[in-house]
Amino acid sequence: MHPHIWYPYTQAKTAPDPIEVKSAQGLWLELADGRKIADCISSWWVNLHGHAHPQIVEAIAHQAAQLEHVIFAGFTHAPAQQLASQLVARLPENLTRVFYSDNGSTAVEVALKMAYQYWANRKTPRRRFMSFEGAYHGDMFGTMAVGARSIFSDVFQDLLFEVDFCPYPDTFDGDLEIFEKEASCLNIIRQNLADRPNCYAGIIIEPLVQGAGGMRICRPEFLQKLRELASEFDTFLIFDEVMTGFGRTGTDFACNKAQVQPDLICLSKGITGGFLPLAVTVATEHIYESFYSDDPTKTLYHGHSYTANPLGCAAALASLELLTQNQPVYTQMEIWHRQHLTKLANKYPQLTKLRVMGTIAAIDINNHEQTGYLNNVGREIRHHAIAHGVLLRPLGNVLYLMPPYCITEAELTWVYQQIDRVLAKVLDRSAK
Ligand SMILES: *Cc1c(COP(=O)(O)O)cnc(C)c1O
Repeated sequence: MHPHIWYPYTQAKTAPDPIEVKSAQGLWLELADGRKIADCISSWWVNLHGHAHPQIVEAIAHQAAQLEHVIFAGFTHAPAQQLASQLVARLPENLTRVFYSDNGSTAVEVALKMAYQYWANRKTPRRRFMSFEGAYHGDMFGTMAVGARSIFSDVFQDLLFEVDFCPYPDTFDGDLEIFEKEASCLNIIRQNLADRPNCYAGIIIEPLVQGAGGMRICRPEFLQKLRELASEFDTFLIFDEVMTGFGRTGTDFACNKAQVQPDLICLSKGITGGFLPLAVTVATEHIYESFYSDDPTKTLYHGHSYTANPLGCAAALASLELLTQNQPVYTQMEIWHRQHLTKLANKYPQLTKLRVMGTIAAIDINNHEQTGYLNNVGREIRHHAIAHGVLLRPLGNVLYLMPPYCITEAELTWVYQQIDRVLAKVLDRSAK
């Protein structure tokens, strides 16, 4: 470990030394010792088109020579204007107002503040939020509060505002109980809404895929019914698409795949193709209007030093162009994933709950340890996978892949062969 770096999500005392990366190209990271490994998690889910994509490199270089940054209050610039227009054109038509920030947690924090202040501005304050078991929305206090209580947030429990958590109706291939699960979830949500009329500022959900909670997927039909409930009880539906945005689910956005219009959407991670930190919260005109006033107290007093950074916006514009070009890849990947993962599931009885959503594939490993983030099988797989040239980072006992869209079918086949070898080692031992 470096004497002056405090690494994230890392217990320095017990963690192995971090691996030094020298450079990266496309799918491949080149390590300082000369080895190459395939980045099958898109480096914490941000890298969309592969590393060092020349079109994004060029867009950033060009923008840097023109205008690297400028204060975004009282000033504006073309990259932010163009990006806002392009995002709005791709999102559901009710989402029209783009607020810039610089990471996923902040995008969610801003959505929560917008929803909360909307009701305050209307002089009908509402204090509660509804969220889902297994949710992850970020590491700041507001976002921790709406996230499932976990080892990440336990120590801060006393400082988190109260949130009502409902079950997330997660499903997988061959799930026979999903209709019952969904009906029961929807009942609980309806009951909450009915029990506390005019109390909820909003309902926040990771649509189609819960990421850090274990790559749990839900059906579009559930989201449609959730939308109906939110409308029926007049509260906001907030989609946290920080992870699912920009093609990850096989469609540009999960809301479009589910054909649901949320009132607020949060985007980050893939927005710049993995080059620079940037995020947006996009709101409806209706929400925007409750802040539009001669009364200064109705202003959204929120902003960050690097808000709408022009380099980030330029990268995002280039990434959007690539997204259009790469559409065949991110829509096809689901078929490739399912073929390979099904083979593995048939070979190893410890693998259960196979699920694929677009470019995201996941499976649970039953190794008789408790499930969850601290399950050791994930760490063992991570270790052996590196030795086989593959970067994986299982979430506890959940093995998942989320490759960049530049991966070829042959490369993905090779990756699954390596995973097969790793599983043969790790599972064979734990079965005995
Ligand atoms: C990663 C993530 C966040 C937090 O984003 P950061 O940029 O890491 O702060 C929020 N919501 C979801 C769904 C995420 O996957």
